[in-house]
Amino acid sequence: MPYKFTFDLSKAPHFFFTEIATVSYQKGMHKTLIKKLQEIIVRCRIQEATGLNLSDSLVLIQDLIDLQAVNMMERSKFLQTKKRALFLSHCTRKYLDGRCKAVFNSDIPSYSCVHCSKDCLVSQSDYLAKERGYDVYVVPGGSCIPKILKNTNYEGVVGIACGEEMRVLEPFLNTLKVAGQAIPLLKNGCANTVFNMETLEKTL
Ligand code: SF4
Ligand code: SF4
Repeated sequence: MPYKFTFDLSKAPHFFFTEIATVSYQKGMHKTLIKKLQEIIVRCRIQEATGLNLSDSLVLIQDLIDLQAVNMMERSKFLQTKKRALFLSHCTRKYLDGRCKAVFNSDIPSYSCVHCSKDCLVSQSDYLAKERGYDVYVVPGGSCIPKILKNTNYEGVVGIACGEEMRVLEPFLNTLKVAGQAIPLLKNGCANTVFNMETLEKTL
């Protein structure tokens, strides 16, 4: 499910993400959380960097913090897993039209990247993950992931999508007892989306 707004955090200052990680560690402090978030938004000039108003900025940052908190809680469990998969949203492909030569298999359902563009995030992620023994899925929507997970026996999954999509999937992963690690998009919009490749490498 997409956000009601578009964002691009790729121009946010690097220390913004350090602030997010710090607040995630302190997530129990609910009373002061909103105030802290507002301070971070002002200090890191998030409204200027993204063009979002304060309330949309708060929704976005709160999701990032929630995801980071879940990542930290799940990390040790994830590191013990052996059979793993990487799920990418299809919007991270360089092209969403016929220029993308990926092969779609509706039975899975997933695209298989054929590496037609070296600078495509999916192509780079596919190489990185497969080198590390992961299976890779490029899914047309988050609702495909439960179907795939029910037919496989992965112990750990890494997902790349926008925060709102991830939030919907979290209870499902808990039910299946699959350890999850989320990499939120830095730029949404359902086309030309962006995530941080360094974060992916560290997470894998
Ligand atoms: S590199 Fe892969 S995902 Fe990217 S455009 Fe080409 S086939 Fe599609
Ligand atoms: S930005 Fe990507 S992950 Fe988010 S709703 Fe759109 S297609 Fe799905």
